[in-house]
Amino acid sequence: MALLRIIHKCNQDCVFCSYPGKNAKNKKYDFNGFCREIKSSKDKLIQISGGEPFLLGGIHLLKLVLFAVKRDKKIEIQTNASLVKDIPLDILKKLVKAVNLSGGYFNVNLSAADAVMDAKVSGVKNIFADKIKGVKLLLELGADIRLTYIICRLNYKQAPVFVEFIIKEFPRIRWLQFSFVKAMGKALTKKIVPKYRTVSKYIIEASELCVKSKIKCEIDHIPLCMLGAYYRLNVDIGKIALNKSGLHRKEKIHLKRCLKCKYVNICSGPRKDYLKIYGDI
Ligand code: SF4
Repeated sequence: MALLRIIHKCNQDCVFCSYPGKNAKNKKYDFNGFCREIKSSKDKLIQISGGEPFLLGGIHLLKLVLFAVKRDKKIEIQTNASLVKDIPLDILKKLVKAVNLSGGYFNVNLSAADAVMDAKVSGVKNIFADKIKGVKLLLELGADIRLTYIICRLNYKQAPVFVEFIIKEFPRIRWLQFSFVKAMGKALTKKIVPKYRTVSKYIIEASELCVKSKIKCEIDHIPLCMLGAYYRLNVDIGKIALNKSGLHRKEKIHLKRCLKCKYVNICSGPRKDYLKIYGDI
């Protein structure tokens, strides 16, 4: 996949943000440059990210997506969805249609089940309601959405409650991902990164709720041995089976104990940055 960071600003200040270029100065939006990247990429999937892509306005985003669609790319737009409501409806409709045409989806970072937790993890007060509005609007327009819940020390206990919230609030959402925080940038601290063993039971409970409700649930960056009966939800299994190269290989490593583990051939091991903090799983 190719990752295009089309804007370096964000309207949030998430505790787990690992993007070093955020708020970089003198970086102008370079439409032609991004088009060249899309054209030269051999990957089918183009991830359009930021910062927050919707800060750029709907027209720029639409033009770029249309360019990629014409080149037979699949689009993923990574967003917190809080600004979706501000995009003119006719532009938003065209954007959703174009993303659908590509077989793509909106990847919405929503890592809280209520406004209080959302303010803690996103670093911004009173933005939760706008995100909920944004997700609902995208759903109404027929968008395919993956909700991504970044698991950190502040919100891991809320993971099962989050699934219950989603079932009630967005009955049309059929796809969730639980992604363990990367110990990078300002998140390189035990204050943000919990132990795998501490979060394990909450993620297992959340997975169980998803499976019972027939919601597709994926888990990233938590080793299989921490996922109980739901180890198959770890996304690395598919990547390893397809022998894909990628970050799952570069960012993770097997430990000595992994050599004796029954999952060793389908697990990438813990993240290296996690080991910098804890040394072991
Ligand atoms: S290979 Fe290592 S990290 Fe993966 S499940 Fe086994 S013990 Fe855990």
